[in-house]
Amino acid sequence: MQWSRSTKLAPSPVDLDDRVVAELHCIKCGTLLRGEFASGSCPQCGHPCSDSVYGDYLIYSDRAEVDRLDEAARVVIYGGMLLGVIVAIAMLFMVTSSQNVIDAIRRGFDTLWAGVLLSPVIATTGMVLLTRRYSMAYYEAKYFHRRYLIRAGICTGLVLSLAGVAAYFWAHYFQVLLLAGWATLPSAAFMRGLSRLMRRVPNVRLASFAQAISSIIWVNGVLSLLFNWLRPLAAESSDWEAPLLSLQMLVSCGWIGLGIASLRLMMTVHRNFLAIRR
Ligand SMILES: [Zn+2]
Repeated sequence: MQWSRSTKLAPSPVDLDDRVVAELHCIKCGTLLRGEFASGSCPQCGHPCSDSVYGDYLIYSDRAEVDRLDEAARVVIYGGMLLGVIVAIAMLFMVTSSQNVIDAIRRGFDTLWAGVLLSPVIATTGMVLLTRRYSMAYYEAKYFHRRYLIRAGICTGLVLSLAGVAAYFWAHYFQVLLLAGWATLPSAAFMRGLSRLMRRVPNVRLASFAQAISSIIWVNGVLSLLFNWLRPLAAESSDWEAPLLSLQMLVSCGWIGLGIASLRLMMTVHRNFLAIRR
């Protein structure tokens, strides 16, 4: 028996006879695998247990799976390109029809922000098609039991009542916060999922790239939030105009850069899938 992973750091999910001892569910159908051989197959659906226990590398997985992922990657690329072209054309119209440079920066930012608000459609498509690793049955088996549901219910109740208080007393700030969250969280989550997927290829370089994009989306999201919060100040006092304008330009450049970097990453991912299929 060879031990490939340290038993001190994490308890092994299998015992000396290669039987699953941890509370692990089949990633395809959600069946509890405890007692099964890690080298065997799920008793319900026949999916290899090792995939649910250790995770698998895409380079060893069957062609149909990689084909499916590549199809999904292309859907995300085309969606991203379409959004990019629409935003670019809209920005061109808005910027050329503005009276001066400051007006152009404002209009450019607003158009760009509208595009960012549309990006969750693509990010969510990407998450569902590309980075969702487990089946619905897996989540049902893992989370749809009483203990977890009660805990989730209490948390949701607390968050909702806090949100209600915030929405009542700080309506403007709350609205801006919701919009910023909507604009950035799905894309950041998608990039994180993509990073995990790339680690499965395995392609560590692309995984770190996706992780870095996810972090920069967070930073730019927080800056956008800050800008939208402070925006009313510019109308009140002229002292705020210059710093807010620089922040606006910084955030705009950030979103354009992130859009281009994400598209480039997706193209590389697509090429990676092609290379595996060969
Ligand atoms: Zn199964």
